[in-house]
Amino acid sequence: MKDLFEKCYKFRDPEIVKSMGIYPYFRPISTEQGAAVIIDGKRLVMLGSNSYLGLTTHPRVKEAAKRAIEKYGTGCAGSRFLNGTLDLHLQLEEELADFLKKEAVLLFSTGFQTNLGIISTLVGKGDYVIIDKSDHASIVEGCRLSYGEIKRFRHNDMEHLRKVLDGLSGDSGKMIVVDGVYSMEGDIAPVPELVRVAREYGARLMVDDAHGIGVLGKTGAGTAEHFGLEKEVDIIMGTFSKSFASLGGFVASERPVIEYLKHKARALIFSASISPPNTAAALEALRIIREEPELRERLWANTRRLQEGLKALGFDIGNTQTPVIPVYIGDDLKTFQICRRLHEEGVFVNPVVPPGVPPGRALLRLSVMATHTFEHIDFALDKLEKVGREFGII
Ligand code: PMP
Repeated sequence: MKDLFEKCYKFRDPEIVKSMGIYPYFRPISTEQGAAVIIDGKRLVMLGSNSYLGLTTHPRVKEAAKRAIEKYGTGCAGSRFLNGTLDLHLQLEEELADFLKKEAVLLFSTGFQTNLGIISTLVGKGDYVIIDKSDHASIVEGCRLSYGEIKRFRHNDMEHLRKVLDGLSGDSGKMIVVDGVYSMEGDIAPVPELVRVAREYGARLMVDDAHGIGVLGKTGAGTAEHFGLEKEVDIIMGTFSKSFASLGGFVASERPVIEYLKHKARALIFSASISPPNTAAALEALRIIREEPELRERLWANTRRLQEGLKALGFDIGNTQTPVIPVYIGDDLKTFQICRRLHEEGVFVNPVVPPGVPPGRALLRLSVMATHTFEHIDFALDKLEKVGREFGII
């Protein structure tokens, strides 16, 4: 008889990498997620955080979370649908809708669940969901949960998207889903062209703006705002786990779409709502994003410095246009080795190997924060140069 656990007993990959001393995952940080962190007593410049604006350490955000615990306790003990809705959730939904220039917003407990909920609920039998090949895993999982058919187009390739759409029946419902900012490559989706194609083919357009909101656009409202197309993008989703310094996710769209999701999305209805401190932290972060554009300016000044520094050293950073900066290495093992060496030198970066990226395209994912100083950036560049030379990358 076959034992279901057999694959687990035979699974040795992490052990092998650990025995080589280059295992890069689950590193235990013993401080705040700041511009620098401490791991095993060692200080590292943090170039692997998604807290782009550095708000996880902002006194106002921390204070708001503490006040929420005092007022509401630590958890909601139920789903939004039943006993888990707080006035604080509604406040956050209202302010987010205003920020994103959409009729309504609905919160989910994580960004991952938001994508599961939106796609599996809206794309039904006989419908199509058409996704970019580099879309985030949670979009792919949402597609797998839906009863519709999944089609993929080559990354940011609008000609290929048209070709895929040409092959689909005219009377089926269609939704194109893209990342606003691609989480590994750091490039931006061509939203103006996507809007044109969606209109032409009668498809709806959804943008996962996990890495765009707080970072792009005149007021930080993200990729749609960056292109002045907030009205034209049918659905914007986002997460609180990056610029919002918290945990949770949200979808913004027309009121009838939000009402439908509120009453049909199983990922919402059958899961507990965002905890009070997390909700309050996200709300305070939103207010800071709106009140302190200088945070975004600092983020972009740091981004330019790191991007230009890496290019000048001869690193291949692909087509990034954002604070998400890939450094292409290619080989998986070499990527782990370089990551370890950088750790030893005092720089935290994330290694990304397949299936996170296509085979042979392993990379170091660097992400910039508003709270980095130029000293942090220059220190990291120094170390990247040293280690890059050791491994013949530059
Ligand atoms: N979409 C994208 C593009 C992401 O990068 C992430 C997080 N890595 C998510 C969705 C999921 O968000 P969360 O962390 O809130 O589950």
